[in-house]
Amino acid sequence: MPAEVLEAYTLAARECVALDQVQSLASRVLGEVTGAEAGLVTTGACAALTLGTAAILARYDLRRMEKLPFTEDFAHDFLVAREQRNGYDHAVRAAGARLVEVGFHELVAGSGVRRVETWEYESAMGPTVAGILYVYDPDSQPPLQEVVAMAHAHQIPVLVDAAGELPPRENLRRLTATGADLIAFSGGKAIRGPQGTGILCGKKELIGSALLQMLDMDDHFCLWDPPEPIDRSRLRGLPRQGIGRGFKVSKEQILSLLTALKLFVCEGYREERISKEKLLQQVTARLRTSPCRCHLEVPADGESMPTLQVQLDEVRLGRSAWEVCASLRRGTPAIHVGQALLAKGTLVIHPLHLDEESTRLLADRLLEEMSTSH
Ligand SMILES: *Cc1c(COP(=O)(O)O)cnc(C)c1O
Repeated sequence: MPAEVLEAYTLAARECVALDQVQSLASRVLGEVTGAEAGLVTTGACAALTLGTAAILARYDLRRMEKLPFTEDFAHDFLVAREQRNGYDHAVRAAGARLVEVGFHELVAGSGVRRVETWEYESAMGPTVAGILYVYDPDSQPPLQEVVAMAHAHQIPVLVDAAGELPPRENLRRLTATGADLIAFSGGKAIRGPQGTGILCGKKELIGSALLQMLDMDDHFCLWDPPEPIDRSRLRGLPRQGIGRGFKVSKEQILSLLTALKLFVCEGYREERISKEKLLQQVTARLRTSPCRCHLEVPADGESMPTLQVQLDEVRLGRSAWEVCASLRRGTPAIHVGQALLAKGTLVIHPLHLDEESTRLLADRLLEEMSTSH
């Protein structure tokens, strides 16, 4: 977390303030930043998915709020493309939704060339469907906008998992502009807020329901003056603590995330990206004569952090990238390299946590792992 974010954290910890008022402020700020009607700070993108699902399932229905995650007597199917299924969709199921897959995953099966198509969602529509889960990625198909238009023609909301889709910063507004009803982002990834934070933004009615199912409800209805974006006129009484109560976010998390978001939106940590690139060049220079080839990967979006790919000469080394990765983890201090390309003999270095000293240490350890005496 940048120093300014830490400062916001400690400042917030010294003040006594009602949590619902802080969420109300957050809703306004998130609305301004994303263009959405309302927003909510959550304890991560996964919490945002569970809360968003709970909001779609229950809306302002007090009985449904009380029943979640048990949903057998009302619509609770969420359509999802089979090719978009992933471990994080457990967060959607946790609220009581049942995932119904549409389409196939022919590209991975090697059996075809087509992706999931909009008519496949549409032909699965029916009275048991409550929502659509869409996992956004620059290559996701069919385009989000098309799925949203089809869903809205059937009065069905779309919940988008865009947890890791920042940068580019423009996604904050662009995804909202598709008309998607709820969008989840991580606060602890590139935004660099506290690790345990996330954002849910979208339609006011749904954000209000999500907040209602997360806040403490130990009050009297006659005294209760709920914050924006909760619509009190829609309620016959005060619900009890909801399914989201276990995802309570602290005022410190909310205010430091909003501070991080401000920094991220303003300059996108540009200066830092440049200095990190220099550190990766230092590692490259140190490994010049080692049995590996270094490739500095600078993403084309001009906003993501550069990474260093160290492709090991596994034959000359007599060791696999998996072994080197494991040995780096077991060292002191433990070094965790990116593991996405290990099967291709490549270690990936993400520079976010590197400074001059740790860069020297990293290069020392890589040299050691690649020395003949190893
Ligand atoms: C990282 C990620 C999540 C989880 O985000 P948290 O903020 O850690 O809860 C969910 N979905 C996708 C696609 C992710 O990449």
